[in-house]
Amino acid sequence: MRRISSPSGRPQGSRMADAATTALIEVRALAKIYRVGVETIHALRGLDLRIGRNEMVAIMGSSGSGKSTLMNMLGCLDRPTSGAYLLNGRDVSRMGARELAKVRNEEIGFVFQSFELLPRQTALENVELPLVYATGAWRGRRQRALAALARVGLADRVHHRPNQLSGGQRQRVAIARAILNSPSILLADEPTGNLDSATTTEILALFRALHREGQTIVIVTHEDEVAAHCQRVVRLRDGQVLSDLPIAQDVAGRFLASHAGGAA
Ligand code: ADP
Ligand code: MG
Repeated sequence: MRRISSPSGRPQGSRMADAATTALIEVRALAKIYRVGVETIHALRGLDLRIGRNEMVAIMGSSGSGKSTLMNMLGCLDRPTSGAYLLNGRDVSRMGARELAKVRNEEIGFVFQSFELLPRQTALENVELPLVYATGAWRGRRQRALAALARVGLADRVHHRPNQLSGGQRQRVAIARAILNSPSILLADEPTGNLDSATTTEILALFRALHREGQTIVIVTHEDEVAAHCQRVVRLRDGQVLSDLPIAQDVAGRFLASHAGGAA
C-alpha cells in the first residue's frame, strides 16, 4: 500500500492517528472534597475533561471555582476524593504516594504565580534541584540545567540569585526548572499574575514557542489576553466545566452574550 503524504511532505503515520484518538489527560467525574473542621467544601464536583497531546489550553473561572484544585490534581500534587484521572493511559488516581511522586517528577512541569524559587540558591541551582529527586537523572544534570536556562533566554544569568533577577527572569527560571525533565505536560497556575503587561507578553511568547516545539500546556488565567494565546478555553464554575470551546468560539460567544444583554 502506498503511503499518503501530507502537504508538508511528512507521511501521515500512526503517531498522528494516535495523537488524535488518545488523550494525554483524561479526567472522569473528578471530585475533591476538603474538610476543614466541621465544614465540607466541594471544590470539584464531578468534572470531566480531556486534553490531547500538544494542546495549549486555558482554564478560566472566577475565584474559588476550583481552578487551582484541578491543577493540583492534574499535577499529581494531591489526589481526588473520587473519580478517575488517566495520564498517558495510566490511572493516577489509584496510585500510592511513592508512585505518584515518580509520575510527578517524570511527567509534570509546574509553574506558579509566585515563582516558588529558593531565595538563597542561584538560577542554576534552582533549576538543577528537581533532578536530585528524579531517578537516574544525576548524570549530565548540570548540562541539562544550563541548556534549559539557555532555552528560556537566561544563559547570562545562571549565577544570579532570585533577588538579583526581574520578575520576568524569575518566571523564566521557574519555566526552565519545569521543562528540565521534558515533562509530558506543563501546568501553569496564573503564571503572569505577578507580572506587568510587557513581561506577560514576553512570557506568553515563551510558552507559545514551547507549544510549537510540541509541549502540551495548560494555563490557569484571569486574563483574556493570556487565554487569547491558547487554542481552547475551559471555563469552570462551582467545580464543574461550564464551557469548553475553541478560543474563537469562546470569545465570539461572550461578545454576543454581552451585546444581547446590553440590547435587552
Ligand atoms: P480557584 O483556584 O479557582 O480560585 P481553588 O481551587 O483554590 O479555586 O478553590 C476551590 C474551593 O476549594 C474554594 O472554596 C477554596 O476555598 C477551597 N479550597 C481550596 N484549597 C483548599 C484546602 N487546601 N483546604 C480547604 N479548602 C480549600
Ligand atoms: Mg487559584
